[in-house]
Amino acid sequence: MKKILVWFRNDLRISDNEVLYTASMEGEVLPVYIFDPRDFGKTTFGFDKTGPYRAKFLIDSVQDLSNNLKDLEAELLTVVGKPELLLPELVKTYHIDELYVNREVTINEIQIEGKVEEALTIPVRKFWGSTLFHIDDLPFDDINDIPDVFTNFRKKCEKYSEIRRSYPKPDTLNSIKPHQVKEPDLNALVPEMKAPSEKSVISFKGGESNGLKRLKEYIWEKDLLKSYKKTRNGLLGGDYSTKFSAWLANGSVSPRTIYEEVKRYEDERVNNQSTYWLIFELIWRDYFRFSAFKYGSDIFKAGGIQKKDRSWDVNEELFHAWASGKTGIPFIDANMRELNETGFMSNRGRQNVASFLAQNLNIDWRMGAEYFEQMLIDYDPASNYGNWAYNATVGHDPRNRYFNILNQAERYDKDGSYTKYWLDELKHLPNEFIHEPNRIESEQIENSGIEHKIDYPSPIINLEVSYEQIKSRE
Ligand SMILES: Cc1cc2nc3c(=O)[nH]c(=O)nc-3n(C[C@H](O)[C@H](O)[C@H](O)COP(=O)(O)OP(=O)(O)OC[C@H]3O[C@@H](n4cnc5c(N)ncnc54)[C@H](O)[C@@H]3O)c2cc1C
Repeated sequence: MKKILVWFRNDLRISDNEVLYTASMEGEVLPVYIFDPRDFGKTTFGFDKTGPYRAKFLIDSVQDLSNNLKDLEAELLTVVGKPELLLPELVKTYHIDELYVNREVTINEIQIEGKVEEALTIPVRKFWGSTLFHIDDLPFDDINDIPDVFTNFRKKCEKYSEIRRSYPKPDTLNSIKPHQVKEPDLNALVPEMKAPSEKSVISFKGGESNGLKRLKEYIWEKDLLKSYKKTRNGLLGGDYSTKFSAWLANGSVSPRTIYEEVKRYEDERVNNQSTYWLIFELIWRDYFRFSAFKYGSDIFKAGGIQKKDRSWDVNEELFHAWASGKTGIPFIDANMRELNETGFMSNRGRQNVASFLAQNLNIDWRMGAEYFEQMLIDYDPASNYGNWAYNATVGHDPRNRYFNILNQAERYDKDGSYTKYWLDELKHLPNEFIHEPNRIESEQIENSGIEHKIDYPSPIINLEVSYEQIKSRE
C-alpha cells in the first residue's frame, strides 16, 4: 500500500478535506502539522506575525484536529521547524511514497510549497480546498483573466460555475503511527497566548468541533440566518453576524460546508435575501483569494494591484494613537479597543478604522494591515490585505473612497451603546455627546452630574480638514 504524508496547513479539519479523504482511500496515512517559526517572526513594521489571540486559537485548532484524527485511529505528528527541512526527513524516516497537500494562495506560502517540492524526491500532489468555487471550475481560461471588478467575477461564477459537493469525513484511516510523539515546545515560539476578554462578541475557541458548533448555533439553534442581511452591519454581540471568519481562516471549517448548511436551511426553513447574502459574502472571500493568487506580491505593496503612486506618511505618534484606541474620536477608539482586548472587530468597524488610518491620517496602509495581522484572531492574508488595499483606494476599487466617520458613528451606533461598551471613561456622557465629547462644555458636564473632567484625549486631527485633504487627492 502507498504511504502518504498528509501535510496539514490552513485546512485543519477532517470533514470536507479532499486531501485527507483521497489519502484515506489510496493508502496508509501519516498526518503532519508543522509550526513554522517564520509565521511567528516580525512583520516589516515590527509587529508580531502571530499575536496572542491567534496563537491560542491556532494551537487549540491543532489540538482539536489531533483529537478528531484520534477518533479515526490516527495520530497527528506535530513538529516545529521549516517544512522544506523537516518534510524530507520525515519522508525518509517513514518511507513515504507521496506527499499530499492543499495549496495556498499567497506568495510566501506558495514559495514554501516550491521549496518543499525542490527538497523532496517523491511526488507532491497538490489539491485546492479553501474556496467555495474550485479553481478548475472558474469560468475564466486563466487565473490572470479574473476580472478586477468583483461584480463581474461574482456574476460569471454564479452563472457558469457549480459549487462542488463537500467531501465526507473518512470513516477511518489506515494510519502510519509516528515513532514517538513528543509534544513540541511551543513556548519559545509563542511568547504570549491569550483568550479574548469576556467582553468579546463570542468566546472564539479554536478547532473544527467548535467551528461546527458555531455553525449549528448561528444557523439552526438561534435561527439567525434569516435576518443576516439586516443585522450584518451591527457592532455588539454574537448575533449580528456569523463570526465564522476565524474558523474559515485556518480552515477548521470549509466554505462549502457552510454553503451546504445554507442550502439545507433554505430548503427546510427560509429562503430569502439574507440566506443569499451569506453566500454573497463567501464569494467576496473567494474573490480576495483568487486575486491574491493572481497578483502575487503586488497585494502587499504600497501601491497595491493598481501600482498607484501615492506618498504615504509613517507617523509613529499618530499611528500609536490609532492602534491603542486613543485618537480622541470615540467610534474609532471603541473599535480599536475591541480589537486589542478580543482579537475581533466587526466588518463595519474594520472599514472605518482602515479608512481613518489610510485616508484621514494618510498613514501607510500596510502599517494598519500589519497591525491587524498581529491582532486579528481571523487574520487571513488575502482578505486582510485585499480589504485594506480596497479601503486605502489602491485595491479593487479605483475610486477615492472614504468614510465620514461621524456619520458612520451616528448611523451604526446612534445611541452610543457600542462606544460606551468599550470606552469606560465615556460611559456617563449624555448620548448626544458620545461621538464628539470635545463638544461638551464644562458647564454641561456639571449639569449632567459628571463630577470630574472626562479623562479622554482631544481629537488628534480635525476630521473636516482631513476630508478636504482627501478630496484634493482626487
Ligand atoms: C480592513 C479589513 C480587514 C479585514 N481583514 C480580514 C481578515 O484578515 N480575515 C477575514 O476573514 N476577514 C477580514 N475582513 C473581512 C470581514 O471584515 C470579516 O471577514 C468579517 O468581519 C468577519 O466576521 P463574520 O465572520 O461575522 O462575517 P460575516 O458578515 O458573518 O460574513 C461571513 C463570512 O464571509 C466572509 N466575508 C465577509 N465579509 C468579507 C469581506 N469584506 N472580505 C472577505 N471576506 C468576507 C468571511 O469569511 C466571513 O466569515 C477584513 C475587512 C476589512 C475592512
